[in-house]
Amino acid sequence: MSIIRKEYFAPLLESCNLKYYSYQLDPYRGCEFRCVYCSAVDVEGKPDIVITQDIKSQLAREISGLQPQVIYLGMKSDPYQPCEAEQLQTRKVLEVLAVRGFSASILTKSDLVLRDVDLPRIGVKPLLLGMWI
Ligand code: SF4
Repeated sequence: MSIIRKEYFAPLLESCNLKYYSYQLDPYRGCEFRCVYCSAVDVEGKPDIVITQDIKSQLAREISGLQPQVIYLGMKSDPYQPCEAEQLQTRKVLEVLAVRGFSASILTKSDLVLRDVDLPRIGVKPLLLGMWI
């Protein structure tokens, strides 16, 4: 089981070089899945997962002033890795994005993503959900 460390890391939003996306966001640093082929995590190193404090307020500040757009989630770590079931960092991110009129494209290998299929009902705009395995 991974150790969850709370730190403040900023910015949450990073520029994204994928076509159609200006920004990417990873709710977690580190990934519990630790796939052997992954170039984004140190599979030999510590499995600690880092989350940032008060992710909702931080994200709300960072997207203020931006036009609503699609944010890419899951570039460096899986937003629905097992600890998301308790930590809810990704859920909180999606809630902030939804009420501000943003959408998200999500890369995950976890069926935990199905937990959040209700999100279009709490946001003002529907979320775009992409899933690649
Ligand atoms: S799920 Fe993705 S980010 Fe996580 S270890 Fe596997 S390839 Fe890397």
